[in-house]
Amino acid sequence: MLMITCPVCGAEGDETDFHCGGQAHISRPASTDPHNVSDDAQRDYLYIRNNPKGLHREMWMCARGCGKWFHAERDTVTLEFKSYYGITESAPPSSSPNPAASKTTKKKSAGR
Ligand SMILES: [Zn+2]
Repeated sequence: MLMITCPVCGAEGDETDFHCGGQAHISRPASTDPHNVSDDAQRDYLYIRNNPKGLHREMWMCARGCGKWFHAERDTVTLEFKSYYGITESAPPSSSPNPAASKTTKKKSAGR
């Protein structure tokens, strides 16, 4: 069970009281013309996510409290939340995840 504390209103609860929005800090493919975004870049933006063993940055919403979104760093091994920060804030540098744990292996799709 995940125990979460909303950094906005202070509400505490388990994962049923909050909504997970998935991996944090995913940016759209850089282009002003959506027709010029490659299929691979669009696929990566929509579907490719990190699945680290260790520290993971996620977005969460306080569903039964204030309804605000926030960022959290969670250890995927111990399920412990290590820190919380605002939804508009960048990840705190002091708690950067283990780079080896957050690496993903991307497969090149054939036939595209
Ligand atoms: Zn809240």
